[in-house]
Amino acid sequence: MRTSTSSQAIPNRLINGTNADVRKRRAKTKIAVRAIRRLQPDCKHHRALWEVEDACVDLAGCDVIMGAIDSFCARRDVEAFCRRHLIPYIDIGMDVQQKSDGKHQIFGQVITSIPGEPCMHCMGFLTETVLGLEAQKYGAAGGQPQVVWPNGILASGAVGLLVDMII
Ligand SMILES: [Zn+2]
Repeated sequence: MRTSTSSQAIPNRLINGTNADVRKRRAKTKIAVRAIRRLQPDCKHHRALWEVEDACVDLAGCDVIMGAIDSFCARRDVEAFCRRHLIPYIDIGMDVQQKSDGKHQIFGQVITSIPGEPCMHCMGFLTETVLGLEAQKYGAAGGQPQVVWPNGILASGAVGLLVDMII
């Protein structure tokens, strides 16, 4: 979501985000809860803004964890946590990179990491090179890339994997 407070601001990164949300700098998690409650008014949710290290107690009780994390290092840490607690992890990720002609390329993945099966290192997704270079690559498309549509595609795939896992 854009962080501009201009009246011209258009929320470009979050489904259900509004210009009023942008102006009020409303947290994405709050917007998500509002959208879910429109569909399921009685839903139970736990909305928290924390670093992964502070969430261990809450996360350890999960049946499945789905992450859409901006950092490869944080992904590595969340996957390691899931492995320690025998929790399946579904990772969604996307990157936008600028090509030499000035246009952008979008890359994305949905990965299921199940304890006892290959991890994201074994799959070749997390490598020492990627972990070392991520700080240089992230944000190459600028501060306001248009990512809502590829994120929606990736999230739909992840939800499909989750449904397959729990049914
Ligand atoms: Zn492995």
